[in-house]
Amino acid sequence: MYQWLNGLLHLIFPRVCPCCNQYLPRGQQVVCLPCERQLPFTDYHRHPSDNPFVDRFWGRLPLQAGSAMLHFGKGGRTQRLIHCIKYEGRRELALELGRWHGHMLREAVAFASAEVVVPVPLHPRKELQRGFNQSSWYGRGLGESLEVPVLEDGLVRARHTVSQTQKSRLERFQNVADAFEPGRADALAGKHVLLVDDVLTTGATLEACGLQLLTQKGVRLSLATLAIAEMA
Ligand SMILES: [Zn+2]
Repeated sequence: MYQWLNGLLHLIFPRVCPCCNQYLPRGQQVVCLPCERQLPFTDYHRHPSDNPFVDRFWGRLPLQAGSAMLHFGKGGRTQRLIHCIKYEGRRELALELGRWHGHMLREAVAFASAEVVVPVPLHPRKELQRGFNQSSWYGRGLGESLEVPVLEDGLVRARHTVSQTQKSRLERFQNVADAFEPGRADALAGKHVLLVDDVLTTGATLEACGLQLLTQKGVRLSLATLAIAEMA
């Protein structure tokens, strides 16, 4: 019944590839094959504790493992995917990409030992505007593939932070450093926590969140993002 309904829906509303807008053949998930072949995968999960993602946190945050699924480049396919999620409201795309990355991470013992996924929280005002938190949907996909629960309120916003884009690196850091606090001490203690966000840039937000999680007793920390941007 479900398959029949799915087939009918596909006929009425054919799915398109979020990267190139070509129709997706039935059964083809997420992006079309030509785009999939050209997606800039990082393959960082093959070296989960020694890669450019982990290096970016060197001396700032002790990590078990870290990985981004894709490289982020202006005008590229990754940017298109993120645009679809954030500005076209494609939350299911964040979920599907999370599942996909989760399948890769399962191959690495360092990630497979994660016990709980915690998404970087969006400010409630922004979540209300957008209607959803993209990191949380991406985290749900990761949690499904890694077969671990997602703790939506593992971290909470301590106060509002103004837009990050106009600020220097130092200003950004000072702005976010005390913006988060642990929400669920009971559910975090003693766990290997996988903290997730959509894009890694300076790492200021992930660092602030990670430091808060590490204040909880016995927490070990790993990070995963959908994309990693080059530093200017
Ligand atoms: Zn495509």
